[in-house]
Amino acid sequence: MFLKLATNFCILFTFTVLSYWPFQDHVRIRVPFPKLHPLMIGLMAGFAGTILMKTSVPVSDDVFVDARTAVIVISGIFGGPGALLVSALIIGVSRFLIDGATVSAFVAGMNVIIASFIIVLFSINKPMTFRNAPYYFYYLTLQTVIVLIFLMGLSWDTIIDTFYFVVFSFISFFTVLFILREMNVHFRKIRQIEALSETDHLTGLNNNRKFQEISAFFSEADKGPFSVIMLDIDHFKKVNDTYGHPIGDEILIELSSRLRREVSSIGGPVSRIGGEEFAMILPGFDKETAKKTAEKIRLSIAERPFVTSTNHSIPVTISVGISSSPQNGKLVKELYNLADKAMYIAKQTGRNKVVHIDDPKEKSKRPHRDLQTGSPPMR
Ligand code: GH3
Ligand code: MG
Ligand code: MG
Repeated sequence: MFLKLATNFCILFTFTVLSYWPFQDHVRIRVPFPKLHPLMIGLMAGFAGTILMKTSVPVSDDVFVDARTAVIVISGIFGGPGALLVSALIIGVSRFLIDGATVSAFVAGMNVIIASFIIVLFSINKPMTFRNAPYYFYYLTLQTVIVLIFLMGLSWDTIIDTFYFVVFSFISFFTVLFILREMNVHFRKIRQIEALSETDHLTGLNNNRKFQEISAFFSEADKGPFSVIMLDIDHFKKVNDTYGHPIGDEILIELSSRLRREVSSIGGPVSRIGGEEFAMILPGFDKETAKKTAEKIRLSIAERPFVTSTNHSIPVTISVGISSSPQNGKLVKELYNLADKAMYIAKQTGRNKVVHIDDPKEKSKRPHRDLQTGSPPMR
């Protein structure tokens, strides 16, 4: 009997992990069609419940111990009311099909369906979570116990059989719930740490590391036309010297949020490459549209002075360099070097302006810098 119970538990555990792990937002694997996830989770749980019933342990003629109530509730945590409904229907109907048309099979099957319907109604208003799932489980177990007593009549044998059912259900449900909750916490923490390692701590923009990752993605395959923008705050050292480093930091934060706002509609990621330098990749942008966007960004900075926490109103300007694929190259690092060169030309020819590397008469001999280290050029 112990071996059979252990087998039943292993089946429950395997299927609950399968119906949990691939469907979470914060894991690497993405199962397509997110709208169908509740259905998939419900089908998986229904299938698992059917196998659990097939391998259930008979403790008397009428009572079979298995973890089907646990699998139903867990499907509700991950897939919501839709998954609950699907899993309960499959389990309820297959109970009837597995045991044949006996009264007890019919009552047991209907019990699962009716109890799950009630849970579904509750979970529409109070979505099932790791925290409140035990209450749903208590209800499902209680109703099943009442039905068992109704079917078998109240006697010592009934009480002992029911006791086996309750103990096994509780042990399997809470063990699986505990393990899944721990996995959930770990997955989330890993995701948070990953996000932190890709984020610039001061501005919340992508950091240089993330920019390189995005660059590699853009360089991998033919992504169609795109442009790279490099920008640098003009005379930022003077701001720090005049108002202090913390105010300089405030300017960097405000500049970042203006940049984010400007490019939010474009979908191009903004990265802080280092110090007071920022880079963007604009997917689908050729030379002309990139120049227009860069000019809009430059104006959004230059036309509105930055008001600091000390109530200083500080005018800030930026110099912007652009290069575009395919005419200036296919790899982001080539384009980055050229955009950096164009930015330097903007600095040399007056600052507070936008220069595309293809703009006439503005070519310079400045050696460009490396994306990863800031110097020397990328080869
Ligand atoms: P240019 O117009 O030629 O770019 O002049 P600049 O003064 O902006 O350039 P420079 O490279 O001489 O100085 C950059 C300054 O940016 C120096 C450094 O103190 C400042 N800086 C870099 N990172 C930070 C930061 O995180 N916070 C603050 N407050 N300042 C920073
Ligand atoms: Mg600067
Ligand atoms: Mg600089």
